[in-house]
Amino acid sequence: MPTLTSIKKRPASRHLGRPTPELIFGDLWEFDPAPETADPRLKARYDLFIGGKFVAPSSGKYFDSINPANETKLAEIAHANAADVDAAYAAAKKAFDTTWGKMPGRERAKYLYRLARLLQDRAREFAVAETLDGGKPIKESRDFDVPMAAAHFFYHAGWADKLDYVAPGRSVAPLGVVGQVIPWNFPLLMLAWKIAPALAMGNTVVLKPAETTSVTALKFAELIQDAGLPPGVVNFVTGFGDTGAAVMGHPTAAKVAFTGSTEVGKIIMRSLAGTDKKMTMELGGKAANIVFDDAPIDQAVEGIINGIFFNQGHVCCAGSRLLVHEPIAERFLAKLKTRIKTLRVGDPIDKNTDIGAINSKEQLATITRLVGVGVKEGAVMFQPACKLPAKGYYFRPTVFSGVSMSHRVAREEIFGPVLSVLTFRTLDEAVEKANNTAYGLSAGVWTDKGSRILKMSTELKAGVVWANTYNKFDPTSPFGGYKESGFGREGGRQGLLDYCKLV
Ligand code: ADP
Repeated sequence: MPTLTSIKKRPASRHLGRPTPELIFGDLWEFDPAPETADPRLKARYDLFIGGKFVAPSSGKYFDSINPANETKLAEIAHANAADVDAAYAAAKKAFDTTWGKMPGRERAKYLYRLARLLQDRAREFAVAETLDGGKPIKESRDFDVPMAAAHFFYHAGWADKLDYVAPGRSVAPLGVVGQVIPWNFPLLMLAWKIAPALAMGNTVVLKPAETTSVTALKFAELIQDAGLPPGVVNFVTGFGDTGAAVMGHPTAAKVAFTGSTEVGKIIMRSLAGTDKKMTMELGGKAANIVFDDAPIDQAVEGIINGIFFNQGHVCCAGSRLLVHEPIAERFLAKLKTRIKTLRVGDPIDKNTDIGAINSKEQLATITRLVGVGVKEGAVMFQPACKLPAKGYYFRPTVFSGVSMSHRVAREEIFGPVLSVLTFRTLDEAVEKANNTAYGLSAGVWTDKGSRILKMSTELKAGVVWANTYNKFDPTSPFGGYKESGFGREGGRQGLLDYCKLV
């Protein structure tokens, strides 16, 4: 438990009587630092993982992975070129043809269970590595990313010997080698979302993590070795967009799966037009979190906070637009601001931290630029007066009110802790505003009425609609988008269908 060491701003006498709401919810309490101390067991330099072994990149080139919390170098990462990607595909093809593709599902399941358990065994170590590499608060990586990644392997292990039930009445077969490229916001979890269904179905994999967050994938390669997976079943090639393009465009890939920006997703789709590769794309979002006047207000405030400030807003399904019913708008905004003042922004390795570091200098510049646009366009900006660490990439939680749908902050994905607030009078207006976006990944509805939830979830053009909660995930539940948020589903039976052919 953190200890209470000092009380800022208020004279001590104010604390002797019954605390006022301000004293409970104001930005008053300072905790002692409580850094997580588990050893992340990092190597100074990480090679590529091809054919079950760590191998040096053929170019001999490495790049630095930076800890965004303090701008120090965490490790060196190999930069894979087209020849390395070729070698990874050759290893994956061999594994598919000789071992994994032929193995009965019940045998593959044992490996997946083993990976899940090995990850659980080293959960704290992986959580610390994820936080150091990506900047997310340790309480997120410890309580969400790592357990959820393990859950995906458990869940898909359960499917591996039951594939006859994936498409009732039909038989399924693996596709072959799949190429996968993932982003930096949930490095280990995205890896699990991609690898677990592919392997359960009998495919083999070439995966490229994002350039700023490759460390946990390479640590996961150690688990793959420990689990005794046949060589080449999973291969990791690290690098930048050039490496990603080589992975997506490789002729051996029977299917490609991409999670990242809509911009890069479109480049990949254009480059693969005319090929017979299967494709799934999980792209950007600009979700609306819609609060009706009969909603449980305090829970809704927490849900909005969780939906956008969770993980620094580095979430494609982040609830970056709040649509609030006009009769409660003023009261709701006031409560929201009071709560935001209590959020702790700072060192992500500290267990008290709510909002950690922005993933990279480039992303911080993007957020800063788009927030500048919001101010210029006349939206009213609120930021708490919290102190930010002197070094590292940090951004205060930011709320824009007085926003209309023509404002860029209401239309563009910012991918940072920035919330735009709009109001509505009727359900139809809420639906109209929520759907008035190029994206369609997720939405949230807060109301006391079940009938309204059902109506909204039918009308909202979003792959996921959460009701009276937000950002809830489960391996059994399919996730994916509409429109420019992409296509295909990850998780559940639907996610498995994207990794097989029907025979
Ligand atoms: P974000 O905006 O979330 O950083 P990006 O779409 O830029 O998302 O990056 C997601 C992933 O796509 C990263 O692993 C990145 O290296 C990779 N990538 C970037 N450009 C390309 C490309 N042209 N082809 C394939 N992958 C790419």
